Amino acid sequence: MAGEVYFPHDPAYEHATTVFNLHGAPRPAAARTVRTLAELRDVLAYARTTCMPVRVHSTGHGAAAAREMSGSVLVRTEMDGAVQIDPVRRTALIPAGTRWGAVVDAAAPYDLAAPHGSSADVGAVGYLLRGGVSVYGRLVGLAANSVTAVDLVTADGELHRVDADHDPELFWALRGGGGGFGVVVAVEMRLFPARPVVTGSAYWPVVHAAELLRRWTGWAATAPWEVTSAFQVLNLPDVPIVPVELRSGTMIGVAATEVRADDAPSGLTELLDELRAVAAPVVESWLPCTPAEVVRAQLGPDEPVPIVGDHLLLADLDERASAAFLAATGSGSPLITAELRQLGGALAVPDPRGGALDHYDARYSYLGNAIPDGPEATAAIEKHCAVVRAALAPWDTGRTAPTFVESWQQPQRHLDPEQIDRADRVRTRVDPTGLFRLDASPGTTMLR
Ligand SMILES: Cc1cc2nc3c(=O)[nH]c(=O)nc-3n(C[C@H](O)[C@H](O)[C@H](O)COP(=O)(O)OP(=O)(O)OC[C@H]3O[C@@H](n4cnc5c(N)ncnc54)[C@H](O)[C@@H]3O)c2cc1C
Repeated sequence: MAGEVYFPHDPAYEHATTVFNLHGAPRPAAARTVRTLAELRDVLAYARTTCMPVRVHSTGHGAAAAREMSGSVLVRTEMDGAVQIDPVRRTALIPAGTRWGAVVDAAAPYDLAAPHGSSADVGAVGYLLRGGVSVYGRLVGLAANSVTAVDLVTADGELHRVDADHDPELFWALRGGGGGFGVVVAVEMRLFPARPVVTGSAYWPVVHAAELLRRWTGWAATAPWEVTSAFQVLNLPDVPIVPVELRSGTMIGVAATEVRADDAPSGLTELLDELRAVAAPVVESWLPCTPAEVVRAQLGPDEPVPIVGDHLLLADLDERASAAFLAATGSGSPLITAELRQLGGALAVPDPRGGALDHYDARYSYLGNAIPDGPEATAAIEKHCAVVRAALAPWDTGRTAPTFVESWQQPQRHLDPEQIDRADRVRTRVDPTGLFRLDASPGTTMLR
């Protein structure tokens, strides 16, 4: 029979099902890592013959947001080949499975930069297909808007180059339409000229939380697009990798990245002056760096961990909202980080050439996360996520950003009803037998 696939306990199955977020560890019926088109076509032939649904992933950073996989065949894409940079067109051709660190390294010698997020290990393709909020997001917009072409293998095993001139409707759907169209084997994207960057963070004791948040939201209302920042409430564990100054109970952090403009005053300096006037930070570190260094300068887990959390897109935050946020996430909260990421700027501007998801109509993204050490801790974290959700309900836009959704079972709405219909029409056209239907993110489809 066509199709080499692997079953539980086989080392090849265990490799193919490896994920970064261990809370979403998938247990499909069968799995295979594919590195070539021939291998991918072989798995698809197996799935068609056995009538098993096909699921797709790369690094498993978004594993917990993927629906449950029993009865499915999981394809892990680790496509052969290096990132190819075209310095004249300023584009990168990225094989599926490539992580942002490799994209940034390939672009750096040409003085080009990419709209990556806060981790060098996140897969470029999964991030781009789901929108992607970069550490430069307010300057460069949603990362999916930089995609210029997608190489897609559909259920029949055919390879298609999809772009603005070749099946523009499918090209629209692939960029934020939620998946379930096929297996992406490569993405081509625009890069932007590298400029000097400053990135880092500063931390204060929780006693200053209210005044710091008041000043941060005040600054954020008119902040220059060159700065993208986040306000964090941290309840960090007493473990050696956490700096000793940050281990004494709840702390407040502000993280930011600024792309420097020669002819304008620094928005980051203005923000830090405002915040340092409240109190001197107990620790701060701001690194002038090249874009190639930025992707590795962000704080966060670099080893696979179980992550449980929740996400909302929020409207403007008044004093009542700030008080509700701090009360729900501060001392006593099991959340290790509760972050308000600043949106707006180019992230709020629709792109006439963009796809299903081209901007966010929200002022902040809330993301609360914790790393449970067992089922009891997981239950306590999930219960607390509901408490924070209820506290923030008056400011919840009801919309969600797919890259930040932490569980496929949580309420999520990435698209308008007309966009959901449009994405579903594309799914039904390119995948009439529904081989990939279960791979569509719940916030983007009415198909069951
Ligand atoms: C530590 C950490 C930091 C992060 N920082 C940011 C950030 O700054 N900004 C941000 O926006 N997001 C961020 N994320 C979220 C991340 O962007 C998403 O989880 C993203 O979906 C990861 O893509 P992936 O391919 O690595 O993950 P995977 O879990 O492998 O893939 C996620 C989904 O993408 C689709 N997919 C992946 N590969 C393919 C393929 N070859 N063909 C078709 N579909 C495919 C599938 O639907 C899959 O379920 C972060 C996540 C973590 C864990």
